[in-house]
Amino acid sequence: MTLGGPGNSLACVRVYLDHNATTPVHPLVADEMADVLRRCFGNPSSTHADGADARARVERAREQVAELVGALPAEIVFTAGATESNNAVLHGVLGGDPTGGRLVTSAIEHPSVDEPARLLEGRGCEVVRVGVDPDGRLDLEAVRAALTEPAALLSVIWANNETGVIQDVDALTALAAEREVPCHFDATQAVGKIPVDFSSLPVDWLSASAHKFNGPKGVGFLVSRTGRELPPHVRGGPQERRRRGGTENLPGIVGLGLACELARRELEERRREHARLRERLWAGLEEKIPGVRRNGPPHSVLPGTLNVEFEATPGEVLLEALDLEGVSVSAGAACHSGSVEPSHVLTAMGRTAEQARGSLRLSVGLGVDDAQIDRVLAILPDLVSRVRAA
Ligand code: PMP
Repeated sequence: MTLGGPGNSLACVRVYLDHNATTPVHPLVADEMADVLRRCFGNPSSTHADGADARARVERAREQVAELVGALPAEIVFTAGATESNNAVLHGVLGGDPTGGRLVTSAIEHPSVDEPARLLEGRGCEVVRVGVDPDGRLDLEAVRAALTEPAALLSVIWANNETGVIQDVDALTALAAEREVPCHFDATQAVGKIPVDFSSLPVDWLSASAHKFNGPKGVGFLVSRTGRELPPHVRGGPQERRRRGGTENLPGIVGLGLACELARRELEERRREHARLRERLWAGLEEKIPGVRRNGPPHSVLPGTLNVEFEATPGEVLLEALDLEGVSVSAGAACHSGSVEPSHVLTAMGRTAEQARGSLRLSVGLGVDDAQIDRVLAILPDLVSRVRAA
């Protein structure tokens, strides 16, 4: 078996097919971050030369991020990840509304949108959760209907973390613009994997996290349209133009910046390669295992994501069996692991609880190669038979 990904040198015998949960840090990103940790310790707010050096690194990273997503550097706010960015938008737009306000979102959101939405709901906000069709795409007529009444925000996941299904962001932004409703996309699974261009979309806010595209964990950003500034969601010092207090996570921000630059340069190549690996995996599964079904239409899912239903097979048992064989995959979202609740995303797509429980997410990325896919294809049919027989 070939070695694991570049970030995987210690766990080199494993096959990591869980790149939607998180990705290995790109070796160039790790080197750059190590260099910052060793040599660049200044506080970016300090006025001396050490501070100026740190400030220059932060601003360089801001440019790299802005370039990847087609935004202005001033529109980038560094955060501790997409969870923080999503919370900042929902609470920033709706939290101060004494009437509670009205939020239009979807039935397939990540908990980092769904949980703040529930909290706001408990405080009197009306939350409309639009459903999806069996392919996992938002019902645009239902969005249109939901927006006929005034709403403070439309917040939708750009590409779903479990199925990889990509939403029609052009149609959604057009509907929001028609009604002059501010619009936010949780673009965490989209950024670095498919083209995202803030300048050409009438969207107000985008959220993303570095670790989904070979950057470090615990750092991300919010893109905030000029003129649509939110109140500071972390109050403290004047950092991030008073939008987010706290001394900057310098190594993380530098790592995020480089991950963005690499993703921008390699976007097409990565897309092609990940889609090729995914199709090799699917072709093998379809050929070797009876009763498999793909969740999400191949033409509108993320290049590296394959969500598969294995008929009459408990997904969590299959996941454990694969884990023992050295293969990492996910049943539902990683954030829900340990729970056998069926995925809310798959049930929203009309799957039964049993079908949803029988589904696995296999996501490819940096370091995955043909030999690893073939190894999985060599062991999975037998594992599925054994789990089904048990
Ligand atoms: N949104 C989506 C779609 C995600 O996949 C994730 C990560 N699972 C998040 C938000 C939250 O990102 P983080 O955990 O890095 O804050």
